[in-house]
Amino acid sequence: MKDDQYPPLPPMTVGPAGKCPRCGQGSIFKSFLKLKDRCDVCGLDLTFADAADGPAFFVMLAASVPVLGIVLWLVLGVGLSYWLTALIAVPLVIVFAILPLRPVKGWLVASQYFHKAQEGKLDNQE
Ligand SMILES: [Zn+2]
Repeated sequence: MKDDQYPPLPPMTVGPAGKCPRCGQGSIFKSFLKLKDRCDVCGLDLTFADAADGPAFFVMLAASVPVLGIVLWLVLGVGLSYWLTALIAVPLVIVFAILPLRPVKGWLVASQYFHKAQEGKLDNQE
């Protein structure tokens, strides 16, 4: 297999940077979250990659607690009005929930390649 010509790259080194999980050189993204069909450098077919809702799930999990904490502190602790709190909270949501999506998706795609994860198949089916 052609994969054997490349040393295995840890998903945490190539994934968050959006680099190809096989060669570590080419970019896997053609837009903010859309994946290319194949790597420009080594030609790895990226259609195997399906992170689905994975990035959104992990980012929501990690972002909801600090943002909710800050909003509750602003309303209950500082006593800011709801309007001012909303003006502060919306940019916080953008920073905490949208920006990490791309590195998390890159990490999940690289992990999928690294661990050769794919859809489960039953032995007794053709
Ligand atoms: Zn590549």
